[in-house]
Amino acid sequence: MQSVPPKNCIRMYRPQVEPSSLERLQQVLESGWIGLGPVTEKFEQELAVSDWVGKYPVAVNSGTAALHLALVVADVPKGSAVIVPANTFVSTAAVALQHQCRVILADIERDTGNIDLNSVREVLESEPDVSAVIAVHYSGIPCDIAGLNEISSTYGVAVVEDCAHAIGSMWQGRPMSASPHIQAYSFHATKALALGEGGCVTFPDEAGAERARRLRRLGIDMSARSWSNPYDIPELGFKYNMGDIAAAVGLAQLEGLSDKLEKRRSIVRQYRERLAGLPVELVRESHESDRSGGFAVPVLVRDRERVRKELDAAGIESEIYFRPLSEFPLAATGTTPVAERFARDIICLPIHPLMSLDEVDYVCERLSECVV
Ligand SMILES: *Cc1c(COP(=O)(O)O)cnc(C)c1O
Repeated sequence: MQSVPPKNCIRMYRPQVEPSSLERLQQVLESGWIGLGPVTEKFEQELAVSDWVGKYPVAVNSGTAALHLALVVADVPKGSAVIVPANTFVSTAAVALQHQCRVILADIERDTGNIDLNSVREVLESEPDVSAVIAVHYSGIPCDIAGLNEISSTYGVAVVEDCAHAIGSMWQGRPMSASPHIQAYSFHATKALALGEGGCVTFPDEAGAERARRLRRLGIDMSARSWSNPYDIPELGFKYNMGDIAAAVGLAQLEGLSDKLEKRRSIVRQYRERLAGLPVELVRESHESDRSGGFAVPVLVRDRERVRKELDAAGIESEIYFRPLSEFPLAATGTTPVAERFARDIICLPIHPLMSLDEVDYVCERLSECVV
């Protein structure tokens, strides 16, 4: 059966914006206050009870800012080394460098695209000044959080989770909020909870969140405020806070998130069914009780450039997640052959909440014609 090519090109991303956004935005714009305020607080409260992010969320203006604050609140010492997987967006390493740390790249597992804990252990055995590991839940496939926790206690290093892709993911049958680690989420335009720009950093305890809430706004503490003293600055911070305009869109986007995540999961299921038996390797969870939130649909193919061009000619967008960080001028060390091979073979196929299952079929049929 040949499905009909769609009229428009099949896009990699298309945010589904909730209809209540306009009304919520109007309320904020007419309220007399459009900065960091009650709407951001409400957004944080709704995030906190959602199970989609960690327990004590602090809303910031990007996922990158969330990662940076995570390192600061984890007390990662400047001058120490931070382990980062080679298969990630540049933010993950950039924040460690901006925190004046050395970056050591860890290799990844080919079947999940996630950081290889054996590679992490090898680095930890040979490098005495590692203070933290940043693990990325690649494409929404959860890392081994329990394994990371064990590494954290064995070697005395902090673990930060880059959860930019992990909204809606489950690890060992548990929601991401059950993790004991500091986590950083992105609400960038391409992500599952899309605000345009934004993010949040979450903590397993209230104390970390309280410190992050000061640090996201230059370290300002107004608790001892008086007529002569507008604020104190016990510790200098950054200008990273979210504002009420973004938070209004965030509250609207949260309303529809459950349905959108269900849609992503049905798209992932359809891809996996249709691609079974083809000469493509599905990158997927390695444990039964893990579940990808469906941020991306990564597959490994032979002759990737040709395949991407043929998909493009058939009106199908695709992406390379990711070029390995070893290819950029980052001053990062580490040997990552699996990540480099993975990056030569990877294609991420279109997935977004407005995509139909017929469009998934169309992508799979065109892909089946160009893979060998
Ligand atoms: C998107 C992304 C980030 C950064 O998020 P921003 O909100 O764009 O700053 C960090 N890490 C990964 C893996 C990402 O995909």
